[in-house]
Amino acid sequence: MTTVGILGGGQLARMLALAGVPLGLRFLVLDPSAESCAGQCAPLQVGGFDDEAALEAFASKVDVVTFDFENVPASSAQWLVERVPVYPNPQALAVAQDRLSEKTLFRELGIPVPAFAAVDSREGLDAALAEIGTPCIIKTRRFGYDGKGQFRIKSLADTDAAWEALGAQAGTVGLIVEGFVAFDREVSVVAVRGRDGEFKAFPLTENWHVDGVLSASLAPATRVSEAMQVQAVDYARRVAEATGYVGVFALELFCRGETLLANEMAPRVHNSGHWTIEGTEVSQFEAHLRAVLGLPLGEPAMRGVACMLNWLGEMPDANAVLALAGGHWHDYGKSARAGRKVGHATLRADDAVALSQALSSVGDALSRQAQVQPVIARLAEG
Ligand code: AMP
Repeated sequence: MTTVGILGGGQLARMLALAGVPLGLRFLVLDPSAESCAGQCAPLQVGGFDDEAALEAFASKVDVVTFDFENVPASSAQWLVERVPVYPNPQALAVAQDRLSEKTLFRELGIPVPAFAAVDSREGLDAALAEIGTPCIIKTRRFGYDGKGQFRIKSLADTDAAWEALGAQAGTVGLIVEGFVAFDREVSVVAVRGRDGEFKAFPLTENWHVDGVLSASLAPATRVSEAMQVQAVDYARRVAEATGYVGVFALELFCRGETLLANEMAPRVHNSGHWTIEGTEVSQFEAHLRAVLGLPLGEPAMRGVACMLNWLGEMPDANAVLALAGGHWHDYGKSARAGRKVGHATLRADDAVALSQALSSVGDALSRQAQVQPVIARLAEG
């Protein structure tokens, strides 16, 4: 009996456990909170990621370790790797934890990125703005997610306000300034690399964000030329090979015409890949488990088309989605809290017309919760 240890007990760990049960796997989830929603589906050990006694107990009970949460201290990942196989490896995790090292790696690998510069003082911010120009975005290098730890600088008049908002973090988590990309759309490629180097990518997905948080995903992304699909997958492959990555990860890209610019990588299963549970032969969750266990990866081949809608704050009524032939409901079992990711729905259909009809039928309440209209508009473009 193989036991997979997961650091972090959120919805990603929960969906990994749900995907792993048919494979005969056992799980142990480590999280500081006794309320972690993965604990409803798998044994939960309550403990800190930096608590050596907790890590010791955890490591003694698992055969392999992986992550639901990438901001586990690098020292804890390193401590574990000396005792049990850890995938992805701590070096890959460390690169993805820091926007500066991540963007530097992308650039070294020939992957286009927005202009960027590290900032560690107020004078440094002035210099970065002179170099990059406005509009731009200042972000924390570490621990930022879902648009948190970011400030948009529309013109130089915003400099003081930006420093006021984030300057205190220059000496702690570090800061980076990035040129603002006037993108047409945002896409992501979710990919998986096995222990033996086998690499596969899921179809390119288009994503809509509201206030920096993912709202809806459409797969496959429409109007993607063969060249663009190949380019995106090639970028993901370069990152995976350069970091010796094992498991699933997501590469988020800005799309301007046919040009792709890398925004960031998530070293784990990703929200923009949730639609794969119903939308592909093997889901991102199962593919990740197969990869970290050294099993054949399976085929990320699509079954028709799919749209995922995120539920933030509180779960809406499920009936409209459950009434659909291709409607799938995922309630993470979390208590309601403003802005919190509490669940999602995936609508799957055989073609764009049927998917559009399904989206139109979910009703106003759900449309307000997630961005349904832009997805319908995109599908109508063909
Ligand atoms: P991030 O946390 O870096 O993924 O940023 C969250 C969201 O903010 C992204 O999905 C984009 O919608 C937006 N964003 C971040 N960086 C940039 C940028 N350099 N240019 C334009 N929009 C951005």
